[in-house]
Amino acid sequence: MLLEAACKMRTPDEIQQAVDAGVRIIGENYVQEAEEAYSKVKGDIRWHFIGHLQRNKVIRAVKVFDLIESLDSLALAKELNKQCAKTGKVMECMIEVNSGREKNKFGVLPEDVESLADKVKSFKNIKVVGLMTMGPANTAAEDLRPYFRITREIFDELKKKVIPNCEMKYLSMGMSDSYKAAVEEGANIVRIGTSIFGPRG
Ligand SMILES: *Cc1c(COP(=O)(O)O)cnc(C)c1O
Repeated sequence: MLLEAACKMRTPDEIQQAVDAGVRIIGENYVQEAEEAYSKVKGDIRWHFIGHLQRNKVIRAVKVFDLIESLDSLALAKELNKQCAKTGKVMECMIEVNSGREKNKFGVLPEDVESLADKVKSFKNIKVVGLMTMGPANTAAEDLRPYFRITREIFDELKKKVIPNCEMKYLSMGMSDSYKAAVEEGANIVRIGTSIFGPRG
């Protein structure tokens, strides 16, 4: 079980305190905010991107992040692969699943996850290492279980399929209010903001 600190709107000082207390994974939603934290926060840490990554921010993102949890389109995969190829980096990615099938949410619909994994299997500079999902906002933890479960089912299916360059290692689900249900449904990374740092601004 891995704990990721979701650090949006936190200062580098706050993040450093979390790292000093033992946090080893930093989750950032915004490239600009991450760049500032990256230049200041020190420690044995890994940087995960958990927001929506615009293609025009990819060049900057590949300098900071060790893992992109929110791979949500083939176009983004192509751009990540292209920019990482320039330095020989292999970017670990998780496919973001739009498990709630929400119109205004980024992420890949459940039935399209395998097809995206299949399309990126020949990309040399990205590697799919798992799935991430949020589920619908403002939903009670118990009511998020179906969304966690469907993501878990895709995770298990893809594990069986043995797609090249696609290893189902991480299942990132659950936030402050929902992590217990998420872990019971199979999450092995939880993304916690409020319960680590307190309410946001
Ligand atoms: C903000 C955020 C979290 C953490 O939310 P909390 O409710 O503060 O724990 C987790 N994942 C993502 C993608 C986020 O944007």
